[in-house]
Amino acid sequence: MTLQAPKGTFDWLPPRSEVALAVREALTAPVRRAGYGYVETPVFEDTALFVRGVGESTDIVSKEMYTFTDKGGRSLTLRPEGTASVVRAVLQHGLHNGQLPVKLWYSGSQFRYERAQKGRYRHFWQVGAEALGAEDPALDAELIVMAADGYAGLGLTGVRLLLNTLGCRECRPAYRAALQDFLRALDLDEATRQRVEINPLRVLDDKRPEVQAQLAGAPLVVDHLCEACKTYHEEVRALLTASGVIYTDDPRLVRGLDYYTRTTFEFVHGGLGSQSAVGGGGRYDGLSEMLGGPVLPGVGWALGVDRTVLAMEAEGLLDREEAASRVQVYGVPLGEEARRRMFLLITELRRAGLDADMSFGGKGLKGAMKGADRSGAGYAVILGERDLAAGSAQVKDLASGDQTAVPLAEIVETLKERLRK
Ligand code: ATP
Ligand code: MG
Repeated sequence: MTLQAPKGTFDWLPPRSEVALAVREALTAPVRRAGYGYVETPVFEDTALFVRGVGESTDIVSKEMYTFTDKGGRSLTLRPEGTASVVRAVLQHGLHNGQLPVKLWYSGSQFRYERAQKGRYRHFWQVGAEALGAEDPALDAELIVMAADGYAGLGLTGVRLLLNTLGCRECRPAYRAALQDFLRALDLDEATRQRVEINPLRVLDDKRPEVQAQLAGAPLVVDHLCEACKTYHEEVRALLTASGVIYTDDPRLVRGLDYYTRTTFEFVHGGLGSQSAVGGGGRYDGLSEMLGGPVLPGVGWALGVDRTVLAMEAEGLLDREEAASRVQVYGVPLGEEARRRMFLLITELRRAGLDADMSFGGKGLKGAMKGADRSGAGYAVILGERDLAAGSAQVKDLASGDQTAVPLAEIVETLKERLRK
């Protein structure tokens, strides 16, 4: 048997791979327009970075990490997410000592040992944006607006934004205690009971129906916010509304770590079945300190490229992007001499900015024309021995079937002209 890609992974192949490229491009376009700089961090990091930066009690760290020991005896982990690495890089290079906020975006593979299913993979792609060094509701709003605009830029209409706030160092402890009191009285398994003690907010995020059923009367953060958090959240909401971004308040939306504060949000899509989150993010004012850095508030998001492609498929939006892999012109040379001349012609066309391909492997007219049809090209340039002798080639409009002889020296200009229409 030939080897297969590992479980939970898949290959992006043409033409669908064009959609993945277009999604990365579209989701990051708003960020690039907003002065965010590109950051690329290593695919693997010291395991300790994620243990501290994502949190020991999370599913990611407790169950999903690809951790290995390298030949030098170091414990390394394939990155399961991007934020911890970005904050590490900012601290390591002192970017926070310059102009604030530091605004960065990234795009890359993430690795999580998950239960593989549609929309949930062990290797997947995220684009992300982070803004560090300012606690300003306009920054939270800016990021959310940019993500919403990114989805809209792809033509998606079914993405919904869920919004919540998690409070801050001032008001969270009292809420946490109230939540723990409530949770301790429930019928929960041992692991969940432990979670109640370590990370009670995370229990609200438990997807199991038997747990969800018991959470109906759980205390909500919104009822425990301090004045500063209320004002902050009102400002974020007002800016979103003023920007025309529609959201739903979801008082149960959490990110389960102590250093996540205030604004938290998720983008969901109805066409994906149970893996409905296409992106998410929030404010993490305590993360820098967890990594040994100074007080450095931050806010950011990560958007799932793979699930966004699935959302586009659900909305019937794949055709336009898939068409991008098609060439405009396809060369059909017949005979040895014609092949050599065609190679030069195709090279010229490409250098003139046209997307061009040709038949390879010495195919005859029938096989080469089949290649032309499959390529999606609008025009075929057919070059036979008689054409060569006459110093011209046949330019065939593949949609109408019209064919005209054009002098070889004029082919590039003629096709540029025709394709401009
Ligand atoms: P979920 O609740 O679905 O597990 P998450 O909270 O783990 O999502 P984040 O860590 O916030 O997700 O990552 C941001 C986005 O990355 C998600 O909204 C999703 O679109 C995508 N994503 C996360 N895990 C996977 C995965 N295993 N396969 C594909 N995409 C993923
Ligand atoms: Mg997850």
